[in-house]
Amino acid sequence: MSTTRADTLARHVWPRSAERTPDGAISIGGLDVRALAAEVGTPVYVIDEEEVRTRAREFRAAFTDAFAQIGAQADVYYAGKAFLCTAMARWIHEEGLRLDVCSGGELAVAQRAGFPGALLGLHGNNKSEAEIDAAVAYGVGRIVVDSFEEIERVAQAGRRHGVVVPVMLRVKTGVEAHTHEFIATAHEDQKFGFSIGRGQVKDAAARVLDQRDALQLLGFHSHIGSQIFDTKGFAEAAVRLIRLQLDVAQAHAITLPELDLGGGFGIAYVDSDTPLAFDDMARQLAEIVQRACQEAGTPVPHISVEPGRAIVGPAGVTVYAVGAVKPVQVSDDFVRTYVSVDGGMSDNPRPVLYDADYTCSLASRTSAAEAVATRVVGKHCESGDIVVRNVDLPGDVTAGDLLAVPATGAYCRSLSSTYNYIPRPPVVAVRNGEVRTLIRRETIADILALEGDS
Ligand SMILES: *Cc1c(COP(=O)(O)O)cnc(C)c1O
Repeated sequence: MSTTRADTLARHVWPRSAERTPDGAISIGGLDVRALAAEVGTPVYVIDEEEVRTRAREFRAAFTDAFAQIGAQADVYYAGKAFLCTAMARWIHEEGLRLDVCSGGELAVAQRAGFPGALLGLHGNNKSEAEIDAAVAYGVGRIVVDSFEEIERVAQAGRRHGVVVPVMLRVKTGVEAHTHEFIATAHEDQKFGFSIGRGQVKDAAARVLDQRDALQLLGFHSHIGSQIFDTKGFAEAAVRLIRLQLDVAQAHAITLPELDLGGGFGIAYVDSDTPLAFDDMARQLAEIVQRACQEAGTPVPHISVEPGRAIVGPAGVTVYAVGAVKPVQVSDDFVRTYVSVDGGMSDNPRPVLYDADYTCSLASRTSAAEAVATRVVGKHCESGDIVVRNVDLPGDVTAGDLLAVPATGAYCRSLSSTYNYIPRPPVVAVRNGEVRTLIRRETIADILALEGDS
C-alpha cells in the first residue's frame, strides 16, 4: 500500500505509542481508534496514560538532576489548568510531581484525588475568601498571592485556622516570552502580579512580613508566558527576580528560601515546532539561575517550575468523525477542501482564541489518493470554527472517516464549552490496549438539567 505524507505520524507531535495498524488505522496506547470510536463514539479526547506518566517522570528527573548538579533543589508543580480530573491528579502524584490549582473547583478535584495538601499550590489573581479558606483548611503548601487585598484575606484565613500560611508573591517582571521571542520590557498593562518598577513588590513583601503570626514569605514567583521554545526570557526574568529577592531579604534581614520560575515550556503542535528536550531546558535553567545567583552574591534558592502543557499536551489526541466534505474554489487556480467534523471550537477553542496551529491525520485507514489542501472545520455556527487551518489530506476523505488531531491534551478539555448546546466529548485514557473513561460524555439532558422550571 502506498502512503501519502499525511499518513506518517511525526514522532515529536504524536504520543510515543501512536502507530499504524497493519491495515492502516491509527492506534494509541495499543487501542485501534476505530474500535475506540465504535465503543465510546466521537468526538472523543484520548489520553495516553503512559505518555502522561512518562513525561511527568522525565520532566521531574530532568529538573531534579540539573539542579542537583548546582547543589540546589527543584520541585515540579503540574499546572492543573492544562487538564485536570481525579485520575490525572493521581497520576501526577504517583509520578512525584506537585500540583498547582487556581480555583476552588480545581482544589476540589485535588482533594477528591487525595492529593496531599502540602504538595499543592494555589494560584489566581482574584481568589475568593471561600477559596482561600478551603485551601488553608486543607493545608496547601503555598498560596501565590497576587494583590494587597489578598495578603489580608490570606492572613485572616491563617488566623481563623490558627496556622501560618506559606505564601509567595507573584511578580510582574516585565519579561514576556512566547515561542522564540521574548520582550524584556513587556507591557505593565496586564492583570497578574505586583510591579517591580513602582515598588509594589517591596511594599507587598513588607505587608506580608508585618504579619508573621499568620504568613510566611517563601519568595517570589513569575510566569513569563506560554509555548516557549528557548530560555532567554527565563534568563532575563531570573536575573531580575534574584536581585529583587536579595534586596528584600537584606532589607528585612531575612532569607527568602524559594523562587518559582513558572511554566510555559513549549510542545510541538505541528511538524515544524522544535521544543527543547526536558534535559536541555532544565540544564539551561539551572545554569541561568546559578549564574544569576553568583552575580548577585547569594546562594541558589529552592527552585520550582510549573509545566502544564509540556506534561499533558502531547499525550492527548482528539478523534473526530467526518460528516461533510466540500471543495471550495478559493481563487482561479486554488481549490481548498473543507472537511467538517463532529466537534470544533467547543472542544478546542485554541485556534479561535490564539490562532493556534494543529495538524491531523486520516485515522481509520490510509489512502493512496493524492493529497489535497484541506481545512478541517467544526460544526459550530461560526466561520472561524477551525480545527486545523492547513493540512494536506488524501483527496478521497469522505463522510464516516475518522480524523485524529494530536497534541490536544492541554487546554482543550479544560477550555471547552457547550456552545451551540453541543455536549462536551468524553475523556478516555488508553493504556496497554485498554480504555478507561475518565470523564463521561456530556448529554443534552445534563445541559437541560441546569435550567430552572419553566
Ligand atoms: C498557565 C500557567 C502555567 C502553565 O503554563 P503552561 O504553558 O501550560 O506550561 C504555570 N504557571 C502559571 C502561574 C500559569 O498561569
